[in-house]
Amino acid sequence: MSRLRAAAARGLRRGSRRSRSGSAAPAVGGGGRGASFRREAPAPPPALHLFGDPAEVEALRGRLLAWYDRKRRDLPWRALAAAEPDADRRAYAVWVSEVMLQQTQVATVIDYYNRWMQKWPTLQALAAASLEEVNELWAGLGYYSRGKRLQEAARKVVSQLAGRVPRTAEDLQKQLPGVGRYTAGAIASISFGQATGVVDGNVIRVLCRLRCIGADSSSPAVIGRLWDMANALVDRSRPGDFNQALMELGATVCTPKAPLCGECPVRQHCRARCRKLLGKPTLVPDVEDCGVRDCPLCPPTTEPWDSSLGVTNFPRKAAKKQPRAERTATCVLERRGRLGAPEYLMVQRPSTGLLAGLWEFPSLPLAPGLQEEKQREAVADHLQAWTGQPVGAQSLCFVGEVVHVFSHIHQTYVVYSLTLDGDVALDPASSPSRWVTEEEFHASAVSTAMKKVLKARERQRREQSSHAQGSKRKRGTKLGAAGSSP
Ligand code: SF4
Repeated sequence: MSRLRAAAARGLRRGSRRSRSGSAAPAVGGGGRGASFRREAPAPPPALHLFGDPAEVEALRGRLLAWYDRKRRDLPWRALAAAEPDADRRAYAVWVSEVMLQQTQVATVIDYYNRWMQKWPTLQALAAASLEEVNELWAGLGYYSRGKRLQEAARKVVSQLAGRVPRTAEDLQKQLPGVGRYTAGAIASISFGQATGVVDGNVIRVLCRLRCIGADSSSPAVIGRLWDMANALVDRSRPGDFNQALMELGATVCTPKAPLCGECPVRQHCRARCRKLLGKPTLVPDVEDCGVRDCPLCPPTTEPWDSSLGVTNFPRKAAKKQPRAERTATCVLERRGRLGAPEYLMVQRPSTGLLAGLWEFPSLPLAPGLQEEKQREAVADHLQAWTGQPVGAQSLCFVGEVVHVFSHIHQTYVVYSLTLDGDVALDPASSPSRWVTEEEFHASAVSTAMKKVLKARERQRREQSSHAQGSKRKRGTKLGAAGSSP
């Protein structure tokens, strides 16, 4: 406890001195890309928010790496990267995992990653694949443009860079489409040993807690500071392990809602924990937060430290924009296929925009407030255009509504079904379309939303069939009763 107090007090004293002189050095080893931010904001961050003591940085690195060596999870991309002697193949193995892990949980990614690497073990193999194959394998993982961009970048490496992956974070970001600052840092540090930091959601949470950063963590100013900090902290001899350790700590110990501070290997360095234990940020009385008036990294004065939240006061984010609400009508159009099993009409979405190139049931956006009758007419007209035969609005069977939330759209699908008699010739001149069996549907590049739509239709079919059986039984009972009467 006394060490924590002393550290906090030291931090504050340094902070006060620096804020007065306005000329203190930035965080240890500040990263190059933070330079533009420093030009805009000449005052250095107050010391409470810095790692200003090289000895402390060394100790933190050592503790974090020792913990990672003991506790790291066995993950397929780690095993591949560790065993792969070829730098380009290693970079590819890391790259695929980093792209898949953006916005997606580790547990979900593992199976996709294994199938991907089995199918396309090298950049060359991926470059030779079709986008349709990529979308098929990516189906269900969400954020579909990730797979498409990964393949585009692989093609560029093969066709323009002679199969050689750029070796530094800067070059990776500059030369490869779809590779942002985070992915570039991860590939460069893990595959090539470049001492460069990474900042993702887990790192943001850990660093904000370690240094009591309570300003909006999605603001460019705070993100710039965090990059400086990550670049300063990264271990020079084991940068890839250090970055993975920091992310692993955020994913498994310093979790968003219930951090396990008692098990945390860097708790000695954590100022949020110190603040929680002491009930105050520092030992200096009557000083709020870091002691610097209008500090750009402290929580806003309108939302001060809430002692009931403890360390989860950090990080803070501006309220998320609500996804916009949209309604789309979609119709599960069926015909009887071979052996009487249903086949479904699927059409392909345009090659750009949301869910680009994926297959879906014929769908059309609905204007807000459109009446049910008009809705049906619009769907019937739309189906007629696909099938080339008249479709009566009243022949559509309403299935229900299916909601799917994309990152920025709250989509409600108004689902209809229609079973056609006989064969329907599809017009090859219109956008790509095809009939698929249920098995083919699940192997196709379809979104999770469309899988939900088909589930709703299958549920309806089961209900219809049990209802029909129930009616038959009732009729049978009545007839039986009639037959037995005198
Ligand atoms: Fe996170 Fe707690 Fe560790 Fe601080 S001590 S880094 S809040 S888990």
